[in-house]
Amino acid sequence: MKLTDIKTITNIGAGTMGHATALQFAMAGYPVRLYDYQQAGLQRGQKAIAHDLATFEQAGLLTEPADEILKRITCTTDLAQACQNTDFVIESVVEDQQIKQRVWREVEQLVGPEAVLATNTSGLSPTALQSVLERPGRFVVAHFWNPAQLMPLVEVVPGKQTNQGTVDLTVALMNKIGKHAVPLKKEALGFVGNRIQLAVLREAFHIVDEGIASPEAVDDIIKYSLGRRWNLVGPIASADLGGLDVFKNISSYLYADLANATKTDPTLEKMVDDGKLGLKSGQGFYDWQGDAGQQMVADRDAALLNQLKSDHKTKER
Ligand code: NAD
Repeated sequence: MKLTDIKTITNIGAGTMGHATALQFAMAGYPVRLYDYQQAGLQRGQKAIAHDLATFEQAGLLTEPADEILKRITCTTDLAQACQNTDFVIESVVEDQQIKQRVWREVEQLVGPEAVLATNTSGLSPTALQSVLERPGRFVVAHFWNPAQLMPLVEVVPGKQTNQGTVDLTVALMNKIGKHAVPLKKEALGFVGNRIQLAVLREAFHIVDEGIASPEAVDDIIKYSLGRRWNLVGPIASADLGGLDVFKNISSYLYADLANATKTDPTLEKMVDDGKLGLKSGQGFYDWQGDAGQQMVADRDAALLNQLKSDHKTKER
């Protein structure tokens, strides 16, 4: 199948991620069948889509009336209807291998032999997921980042049985809808983004546990240094710019001192056991009792939106 053969998208799951992926495809001009197994899920998704669309409209990022985009999204709780004559299926249901395998087994019986099947799993193995399929070569991971309507990256990850053509086509489609797709050579737990995120988190928790710095200090240090730099120049190019000899020297004494635990951090474990889950429970490393958390999310999303606008301007030039 070629990129131009992709005419219709099926989007399975209308939650945090699914509503946003559906919107991205619709904004790019594709008719989208948005499926969720429960009406309440669909309604939540529709509300979230309307909200995101209004935000894009206010930011001047729509090239056509919002109603035209909404018209392209057909909502259904009927999987057969969602899968009829579809060319590309993107799935964002709960992160549970057995549930995903069940959904995919069912989907495969409802789509044509050429349709591409993509899962937005955060870290389940594509090899394990595709093992239940009759045609596993057309199955791939397309891992969006939350909030998916604002974050450009999509990691495209092949399982052991995925065809290179499936990877190439998925990368092309993601780029066509305005995302920044990056293919991996092969699967790895957590893919790349979450491997690096968790490596940084392990060290950050270790620093707090060891009394080296407070959570606030750790966050400030990253925000005002690596966060700024990595937005422009990734860690590997940064090492090149700084001089590999310098990084070799630092690694020679520092690696041995860094956190290398293979089990969950004890502080993290205790906080979760005590019900301190962060923003959603009102308490984590920070106190989220008031509306500071909602404000932080709103400020972050506004800044991400501005960044998107600037990406658009750069592309137009
Ligand atoms: P969510 O709970 O917000 O949404 C899941 C949706 O799937 C719900 O609407 C639910 O009704 C629906 N659903 C559940 N079982 C279903 C089934 N059998 N058939 C059809 N619909 C079903 O979850 P989410 O945060 O959107 O996560 C979805 C997937 O995306 C997961 O695999 C998750 O790991 C991945 N992901 C999440 C994030 C994130 O930050 N939230 C980021 C990247 C990827």
